[in-house]
Amino acid sequence: ATPTALMVGIGRGARLGILIKGHDALEASGMISTVVLDKTGTLTTGRMSVHAVTATTSMPVHEVLRVAAAVERGSEHAVATAILAEAERRISDVPGASDFTTHPGLGVHARVDDHDVIVGSPAFMRECDVELTSVDAAIDAAVDGARTVVVVAIDACVVGVIEIADTIKSDAAEAVAALRSQGIRTVLLTGDSERAAHRIAAEAGIDEVHAGVRPAQKADVIRELQGGGTKVAMVGDGINDAVALAAADLGLAIATGTDIAMKSADIIVVRDDLFAVPEAIALARRTRRTIR
Ligand code: ADP
Ligand code: MG
Repeated sequence: ATPTALMVGIGRGARLGILIKGHDALEASGMISTVVLDKTGTLTTGRMSVHAVTATTSMPVHEVLRVAAAVERGSEHAVATAILAEAERRISDVPGASDFTTHPGLGVHARVDDHDVIVGSPAFMRECDVELTSVDAAIDAAVDGARTVVVVAIDACVVGVIEIADTIKSDAAEAVAALRSQGIRTVLLTGDSERAAHRIAAEAGIDEVHAGVRPAQKADVIRELQGGGTKVAMVGDGINDAVALAAADLGLAIATGTDIAMKSADIIVVRDDLFAVPEAIALARRTRRTIR
């Protein structure tokens, strides 16, 4: 490859707000035919908000929110930020908690007032042997609204359900359309439920959905998509996506991403704008043609 063409490509990228770390990355991006996008914080704004809190025992709603907020102090996930903001708005005294364990893509575990509290997805509850039949209807209602469902359990008993809403980025559909016009297959990869994922995919015009995927399995999905020599790019932001970003032929970390995501990405998109993705690919394709 001629170094000059690559240098020109990298310089042009910088002017577009796309920072390209290595020559290999720029060359690889010219051959990408599938782009995988994370949901929360990548296709959506990641500024989640609490839509509803439902109590499922005699414990009052504000108490469910209080306990959930105490546990979510141990997490930096968008879900945690939403629950803490709602607690701040509705209640005055969030109790302290200890022994926090965060389970990426699943939820959080902590001790509050000598009780074991779990806050997380229905899938996480099943893993923790929490019986969900009493809240099946509440979960279905949230899922029907395509919202993210978070269950609250105290000492392995469900006490409530919190529905969280997120909004798709205003430019997501246009950016996905630009990728499709480049002949690129688009895939949504998320730890959230099928329904929430399909709603976002439909709104954005994405071809394929892989939902309910744990952070560690996200890399497996990337490797599956790479079958037959297909070159795959992954676009993500959070700490959860670091392994998938590294497994992809090209990792695109959007600007609000965490440091770890940045380190494992071959390309850093410094602009918080999904159009940077088709632009990076177009730039890389032009650069490849110049090299030839
Ligand atoms: P995505 O793949 O869309 O970025 P994640 O893998 O980060 O989503 O999370 C998947 C699911 O795990 C969330 O939809 C939520 O149900 C659950 N979850 C993750 N972190 C938390 C948390 N701190 N509290 C409660 N639930 C969480
Ligand atoms: Mg994410």
